[in-house]
Order: sequence, then structure tokens, then C-alpha cells
Amino acid sequence: MKNTQHHIRAFSQILSPNEIITAASDIAPFCLDQRKRYQGAAFAVLQPQSVAAVQAIMRYCHQHQIAVTPQGGNTSLCGGATPHAITKDQGIIVSLSRLNQMRHINLADNTITVDAGMILADVQQAAQRVNRYFPLSLASEGSCQIGGNIACNAGGLNVVRYGPMRQLVAGLEYVLANGELVSHLSPLHKNTTGYELYQQIIGSEGTLAIITGATLKLFAPPQSVLTAWLGLNEPATAIEALSVLKNHFGERLTSFELISDDALKLSARYSQQTLPTQAAWHVLLELTDSMSKVDLSESLYALLDQHQWLNTVIAQSETDRQHLWTLRENISAAQRQLGASIKHDIAMPITHIADFLAVTEQQLTAAFPEARLVVFGHLGDGSLHYNVFMGSVLSNDVYQYEAAINQLVYQQVLNHQGTIAAEHGIGQLKTHWLPLLRSKAELQWMQQQKQQLDPKGILNIGKVLPAIS
Ligand SMILES: Cc1cc2nc3c(=O)[nH]c(=O)nc-3n(C[C@H](O)[C@H](O)[C@H](O)COP(=O)(O)OP(=O)(O)OC[C@H]3O[C@@H](n4cnc5c(N)ncnc54)[C@H](O)[C@@H]3O)c2cc1C
Repeated sequence: MKNTQHHIRAFSQILSPNEIITAASDIAPFCLDQRKRYQGAAFAVLQPQSVAAVQAIMRYCHQHQIAVTPQGGNTSLCGGATPHAITKDQGIIVSLSRLNQMRHINLADNTITVDAGMILADVQQAAQRVNRYFPLSLASEGSCQIGGNIACNAGGLNVVRYGPMRQLVAGLEYVLANGELVSHLSPLHKNTTGYELYQQIIGSEGTLAIITGATLKLFAPPQSVLTAWLGLNEPATAIEALSVLKNHFGERLTSFELISDDALKLSARYSQQTLPTQAAWHVLLELTDSMSKVDLSESLYALLDQHQWLNTVIAQSETDRQHLWTLRENISAAQRQLGASIKHDIAMPITHIADFLAVTEQQLTAAFPEARLVVFGHLGDGSLHYNVFMGSVLSNDVYQYEAAINQLVYQQVLNHQGTIAAEHGIGQLKTHWLPLLRSKAELQWMQQQKQQLDPKGILNIGKVLPAIS
């Protein structure tokens, strides 16, 4: 305790009082994850308001070997932003929420440069104010931050057209574990000058550096938008529809979401909304064009007719569109209200998804008759949220089944050439599964990167790579 008091005094030499939180009751919310599953501890939360302050914090922590958990909006679904139990209360949280300003917009290069703590929805709005579009869109966009999105290589609803966060970053600024700043924010559309370190930082979940700023790509805003809901008998038909629409509409296919009927009914009850279609499976899709008055509906109607996908609702107004999207976006909240479940954030080649769904459900329900599946996700990019509720066990007691259920689900993911971490990352939830996905050579290379950039092992201990106690 003497040591932590000493460190707090040292932090107060480099930060202003409003950048330091030390009262246990104020620290507590930062130590609990979004799913209320991981409870960490920290002796202080620091909220630096400048890049120089982040550097000073890291220099000090490096020198005194203090564990640092970088935290953005704390919406991680795999315990990524919560201090690992191994750090006890001997570490700090660096919250980026006060480093949250827009720096500038560059219309010729079509980029926006922002502090890492800027909330995703605020970035979308800043782009909109200059008649541009920032396409990353997640149900947590009102609270997650750009730094967290980059650290997790976030995906979301528009990946089918614009790609995940990695494809939206045009430049990055970050502070290494020893406090050194690396800054490449100018929007170079071409740059081939050796190995690209910032690509390592994207998706590294706060284990290699603290991201302090980013230059992001902007796009022309969609002016013509067509939103449709299809009711289908089976996932194979959804995959066929995806292929047909991708081929016909090309880059205009912006979102293509698959929703099981159970997931829809859960969300509809929670949202107090009516069901758009009666079917075993549903697809919510959106077509967009940056030109106004482009008629997307005529071609869509013709295709639906040709393929006999007639259990269809097409949004006729913005209100209709919001109704359909609310049903999709409220699935997470509806599940949260229901209780705890065993979640899987998986992806695989789209061509394998129908078989995966059939085989896994059959095996799961045979082994666990009380299992209830809530399946939905971004079929357009091959990723699914595959969540298993266990009958009436709706508290955290459900995690007693997790190892056995994960074993079964992940084995099928591997059999179908997929990944167990599509867009939420590894965090502390899946560290022990990483060796299943990565070869020995890849794991060694990751350990070497970690050792090189964070030789004292202070950054986000126990995340991504298994903790060394
Ligand atoms: C309702 C809901 C829906 C979601 N839907 C999606 C979805 O569709 N697609 C998707 O990809 N994710 C989704 N997520 C997960 C989550 O919102 C994303 O992973 C998001 O990108 C995390 O951002 P954050 O700012 O909250 O990061 P945090 O949760 O604070 O942190 C996440 C990780 O990033 C690290 N980190 C945070 N900020 C920094 C920084 N500045 N520098 C270095 N490391 C940092 C943390 O240490 C941690 O490892 C959803 C979550 C919720 C609650």
C-alpha cells in the first residue's frame, strides 16, 4: 500500500487532479466489464487529457514496472479492458475518455483525424457535418471509442462493403510501453517503407501500445438507401441470396445480417415491435448508393421475384427502416435482459456456414437438451454471434457449462475452417484457445513482438497471450 501511495503522489506531479481517480467507489465501475463477468482491481484510474500526459504515465509505469490496462468505452465482450486478476490491485487503468477531441478533417484526402478517446458516434456525426460518411457501425457506437475500435479491429454492420476497422485506418499515433511516441497521422495513400508497425498495433487489444490518435478514411454519404427484410426457411437460402445480391449489386450491398427466429422474437418482445416476417430465419439487408435518386428497388424486386423470395418486407420510409434496424440492434440488449449466456464471436468461410449451423445445433442439443440458441450476425462477412442459453440457468452459474460447450462449438468452427474471434478479440476470455488457432511459429512470433515492444510486460497483462505468473 505504501508503494501505491508513493505512485499516486508521483502521478499527481505529472497530471492535474481531475486526471486522477483514487477513491475505491469511483474506481469500481472501471474494474467491472460490460457483461459483469470480470471484476478486476486497480489502485488508480488515470484519465490523461493530452498525448504528452499518456507518455509521462507510461514512462513512469515502465520505470516502476506498474501494470497498465488501457481502457476505452469499456464495451469489450471478452474482458479485454478489465484488469486481469493476476495484477491484484497493483496496477492502474489508463482511461482514454478525456482524450476525446476531433483534430481535423481533410476533404481532399477524405480523412478525419481524431483523439483515440473520441466516441464512435461522435466521429460519425463529425463526418456527417461536412457531408462525409464514416462507415464503422456497431450497436455499442454510443459508448465505444475509436482507440478501442482500432485495438479490437472492430467489425460491425457495414463490413461487407467497407471492411473492418483495419481497412478504415489511414494513420496512427501511439505510445509504446516505455513512453516513446510513434506518430504517422498524415494520410498517405501509398507508403512502402519497410515493415508497417502500426498494422501490428491494430487488433493488439492494448497489449503492445496505447493508441492516442488516428486518421480515419471517410466516404461519400449514402444518398439512396434501400432496406429489406427477408423471411427464409434455412440459412442455405440466405447464403444463396447473399451471393446473388453481391453479384448483382456489387459494392452497393452494404449490410447483410442473418437472424434466427428465436433471436428475432427475443428482440421484438424487448423492443415491443411487431415481427416483419414469419419464418425460421431472417435476413436484414441494406443497399446504398452515394448518388441520389438511384432506383435500387426495381432490380431488387425483380431478383426477389425471380428467386421466389417472396416473404419480404421493403422499408417504405425512414420509420420502417428504423423499425427493422431496431429489431436487429436490440438483440444484444434483449439477451442482456434475459440473463447470462455462453457467447461465441465466430467467423468462417460463408460457404461453410449452413453446414456449421446444422451440425453444431444437432450436436449441442444432443449433448445439452436444455440448450437454447440465439444466433445472429453479419452473414455478409461470414461472422456470427452464436450464443447458448442453458434453460433456466440465467445467472453467471451458466459458465460452469462453458468449457464443455466451447469445446463442442469451437471444434465445429475449426472443422469448418473458421476462427473463434471474429471481431471482439481474445481479451482474457479466450487466451487459452489461441494455440488452437495459431501455429507454434505464429505464437512465438507474437511473444517476440510483445517482448520487443513491452519488455517489462506491463501492458494489458493476461490479455491475448496467456498470462505468465
Ligand atoms: C451491445 C454491443 C454490441 C457490440 N457489437 C459489436 C459489433 O457488431 N462488432 C464489433 O466488432 N464489436 C462489437 N461489440 C464489442 C465492442 O463494442 C467493440 O469491441 C469495441 O470496438 C470496443 O471499444 P471500446 O472503446 O469500448 O474498448 P474497450 O472495451 O474499452 O477496450 C477493448 C480493448 O481495447 C483496448 N483498448 C481500448 N482503448 C485503447 C487504446 N486507446 N489504446 C490501446 N488499447 C485500447 C483495451 O485494453 C481492450 O483490450 C459490441 C459490444 C456491445 C456491448
